[in-house]
Amino acid sequence: MKHKYYIILFVCLFISVPLKASILTLDSHIDIPFDFMQIPNHDPGKDTNMQVDLKKMVEGSLNSGFFVVYVPQGDLDRRGYEDAKIKAEKKFSSIRKMTEIYSSKIKLVKNPEAVIHAKEKNLLSAAIGIENGYVIGEDLKLLDYYYSLGARYMTLAHIGHNQIADSSIPSSRLNDPKELHGGLSKFGREVISRMNQLGMMVDISHISDKAALEAIKLSNSPVIASHSSVKSLADHPRNLSDEILFEIAKNNGVVQLVAFPNYLKVDKERDYAIRQLGISVARTYGDNEFIPSKHFTTQEFEEGIKNINKHFPLPSIRDFINHIDYVVKLIGVNHVGISSDFGGGGGVEGWMDARETQNLTNELRKRDYSDLQIKKIWSGNILRVWREVEKKSQKN
Ligand SMILES: [Zn+2]
Repeated sequence: MKHKYYIILFVCLFISVPLKASILTLDSHIDIPFDFMQIPNHDPGKDTNMQVDLKKMVEGSLNSGFFVVYVPQGDLDRRGYEDAKIKAEKKFSSIRKMTEIYSSKIKLVKNPEAVIHAKEKNLLSAAIGIENGYVIGEDLKLLDYYYSLGARYMTLAHIGHNQIADSSIPSSRLNDPKELHGGLSKFGREVISRMNQLGMMVDISHISDKAALEAIKLSNSPVIASHSSVKSLADHPRNLSDEILFEIAKNNGVVQLVAFPNYLKVDKERDYAIRQLGISVARTYGDNEFIPSKHFTTQEFEEGIKNINKHFPLPSIRDFINHIDYVVKLIGVNHVGISSDFGGGGGVEGWMDARETQNLTNELRKRDYSDLQIKKIWSGNILRVWREVEKKSQKN
């Protein structure tokens, strides 16, 4: 009897381990704090209170991620641009430092093959994306420079219009008008052309609908939305309309649905509570950017979020997968991917940190997605886009 039990156990392990191991999971948007790698709590090689660290990635079988060089929007002048560059460089070097100090665990990757190779070697991998084209100022050469540091996508704008594009959420702090360029600026069009030449993916998350449609049309290569969800399911300015989703499909691009609570289910009460606590500009609804009445430390931020999550139930992993289902039905499984926005306000019940990553795979299986489809959603699609963007670049 005991013998039989061991045989069954062995067969189960034999079947389940390769299946689980064969799906390469890639999260296209992981935010990092400015003191990443500097304090023990934000050192991903240690036990941290961050949603993503190396141990959590291993535990949840999250193989790869785009770690994000995010810089908030400031004034559109030389001083603002210089300051943004310093901030961006700090984040680039902290990501590189992570992959140097923990080289036996995580590898810095600059092309899709390296992502696959790292997984085969049983290593985690970190790619880099820039969030906010503000960091290049008005100097196209900085695009080349950031590319050399490893940036493989760039979100054209963030909250607030910049020198490249109009934002989906104008900044009241910066006294933004409703529109600044009516889509992309002239410089923005040059930026897209240079990104195509370099082989850097154009990311349309965060920019206005007009700017997004223009960027998709202009780009010679497929585009990504690195972290956005569906407007038809949650009417938030950060989400994508069906029209934009169709254009992304035509362009052979990919939408990385994001596990960001307010983009999955618009909850005005929860939103109001966040504003009252004054926690984050990124969680605001509509065109009113919140101006915090005091400066919050990261710890206060994290505690505040926990407190809010206790009082206002978060959307669940099922709500998140509803967005995936919607896009799959509308434009097909080849244009869908996954992002968490962990560290930047992301996280839903069931996927609150990297440890819970397998819950998503399980939930997709419950909804009858095949392993082939799950592979595409988890990484196949974004790697296909990345490969095509590289192929079409003028370096090759
Ligand atoms: Zn964002």
